[in-house]
Amino acid sequence: MLSGPSGVGKGSVVQVLRTRHPDVWLSVSVTTRSPRPGERNGVEYFFVDQSAFDRMAAAGELLEHDAHMGASYGTPRQAVEEQLALGTPVLLEIDLQGARQVRARMPDAQLVFLSPPSFDELARRLVGRGTEDDDAVRERLDRARLEMAAEDEFDVVVVNDDLETAADRLVALMSA
Ligand code: 5GP
Repeated sequence: MLSGPSGVGKGSVVQVLRTRHPDVWLSVSVTTRSPRPGERNGVEYFFVDQSAFDRMAAAGELLEHDAHMGASYGTPRQAVEEQLALGTPVLLEIDLQGARQVRARMPDAQLVFLSPPSFDELARRLVGRGTEDDDAVRERLDRARLEMAAEDEFDVVVVNDDLETAADRLVALMSA
């Protein structure tokens, strides 16, 4: 499981993984947030409305779920279980709350924390992304500070100083 503060580049590492390591199965989360330009339904996320999301959660179809920035995010359970049963390396890219829920349900899961080279660098990336307004950036930074404090809960820390290196290290950990 890959987690880490907002803006650290989890999404970018996952993008690199898609091309460099197609053998790794990436869980596609459901979310109620709107797609960003270029995002495709069923690829980056399954985009659903709140009532569909709530229905899935109530039916126990989500392995974990969490809400932030006014949107809900969750991991569809069945697909993950199917891939694990096949022995495929499975990667979930989720936030800290989600990682804690999965840890409680799947004690054998390995938690990898993707850490920024520094907090300043993280702040630069969050501002530079330009996809959020000032309030949203501030909320993400506050959240990032909290999430960085949770680094010790994780099995491994991978520093995201270089995308390809971080992706390769992640895969090496999964196959170890
Ligand atoms: P974004 O909206 O930028 O794609 O993602 C925002 C945050 O939601 C990121 O920290 C990402 O890791 C987290 N996230 C994405 N999918 C899931 C999920 O299925 N469950 C949880 N708990 N968090 C998720």
